Amino acid sequence: MIIDDKLLTSILKNTKTPWQKEIDAILNKAKLLKGITKEEALSLLMVSDEKKLQKIFDAAKFVKEEIYGNRLVLFAPLYISNICANECLYCAFRVSNKTLKRRALTQAEIEKETIELLKQGHKRILLVAGEAYPGGGMKYIYDAVDTVYKTRWNGHSIRRVNVNIAPLSAAEFKELSKHNIGTYQLFQETYHEETYKKLHTSGPKKDYNYRLSAMDRALENGLHDIGIGPLLGLYDYKYEILATLSHIEYLEKKYGVGPHTISVPRIEPAEGSELSEHPPYQLADTDFKKVIAVLRLAVPYTGIILSTRENAQMRSAAVELGVSQISAGSRTNPGGYEEGSAGAQFSLGDHRTLAQVIEDIAAHNHVPSFCTGCYRRGRVGKDFMDIAKPGLIKQHCLPNALFTFAEYLHDFADGAQAAQGFELIEKTVDGQIKDKNLKEQIKKNLAEIRSGKRDVYF
Ligand code: SAM
Ligand code: SF4
Repeated sequence: MIIDDKLLTSILKNTKTPWQKEIDAILNKAKLLKGITKEEALSLLMVSDEKKLQKIFDAAKFVKEEIYGNRLVLFAPLYISNICANECLYCAFRVSNKTLKRRALTQAEIEKETIELLKQGHKRILLVAGEAYPGGGMKYIYDAVDTVYKTRWNGHSIRRVNVNIAPLSAAEFKELSKHNIGTYQLFQETYHEETYKKLHTSGPKKDYNYRLSAMDRALENGLHDIGIGPLLGLYDYKYEILATLSHIEYLEKKYGVGPHTISVPRIEPAEGSELSEHPPYQLADTDFKKVIAVLRLAVPYTGIILSTRENAQMRSAAVELGVSQISAGSRTNPGGYEEGSAGAQFSLGDHRTLAQVIEDIAAHNHVPSFCTGCYRRGRVGKDFMDIAKPGLIKQHCLPNALFTFAEYLHDFADGAQAAQGFELIEKTVDGQIKDKNLKEQIKKNLAEIRSGKRDVYF
């Protein structure tokens, strides 16, 4: 059983706010970088005292820095269609929303949108669509992935396409895996079945179990990297995180590998959705930070993704606590990069351009990364985790982050931003790369990038 509601409810009922000693013991265990159990994670979620919370935040920051250093991966969502057959009460794309202008981009329009993203400097995208594809089957999606990969602008191309689309059948996953996608991402929305049924009132998405079992079908049919996440605000966050960790435990036991990423979307106001304006379990900012910190401690090697849903201030705080990937310069409507934002899925909390986000990240001493090295070298799924777990993430990922950042600065940044960025690169190489040979190799690669070489990675 993937989610045992009775068991989770009983764990939830029997978990008390921990004493300081218990908190310290869990945090000391977490600092060994091997994760903590879902029961221990829940214990930490019970904490609300400010001082005790700060200790949790400090531990999360420690784990984040030990494993990821000051690297932050950037991507952009690419919404290709807002046509949808489902009735999810929190989403502007739901079938009964007659005020939304519907649109599915043609392949030519997808190419245009991709060019807009390439012009900004993006290298990684997340392809997103409602569940009702032109032509009926999945061909539209397969073609869209191919179109994005094929698109070129001034020699630049998208190097990794992740997708966030409705659950696929086994045969469809098999076909999707042939199109070279990175991560298959799907949010369970709420793991609480009764709540799920109330919020998804018609369309194929009504089927809770078909959605819950999607990751099994994905891993059994050729996909290696999967991304999960609850939509926070629909039900009790403690239950959702406990269930998310249960889902991970189940996948690890069965397939030897958990998700590549966890996303932590919070409900944002969506056009024509009363429920999204007043989420039934609205998550306060402090609890949201606690959720991120506890996930960082529980599954230290799993990437945590935060989207443009959050404002700049929350995003800075979240990065300190463990978020390792953020979207930047985003639009959530099909055609949004070329034509503006009418018909969006939800309102955005962060309206800054990619260049502004990068400037801010760099000013906070974080190295923006467009790296796609692991996936292109075949370090995916279990292989990625086997490399990541002994702490090698820093040795591969940090140099690759520096290379992609240097490429960005040479190709897209203006004078002041480039100066700020190259200074950060130099500081990071000198301060964080201890191995002499590695340092030499990095400097050599950076020099090659300066003289025009591109797509350099370990
Ligand atoms: N249609 C597919 C599905 O539902 O799985 C994939 C695309 S859907 C646009 C991607 C995600 O958007 C959903 O899984 C949901 O978590 C999120 N979403 C929907 N409405 C939202 C809202 N009002 N605020 C924040 N996220 C929302
Ligand atoms: Fe459609 Fe996905 Fe929005 Fe639900 S969340 S209405 S399935 S686009």
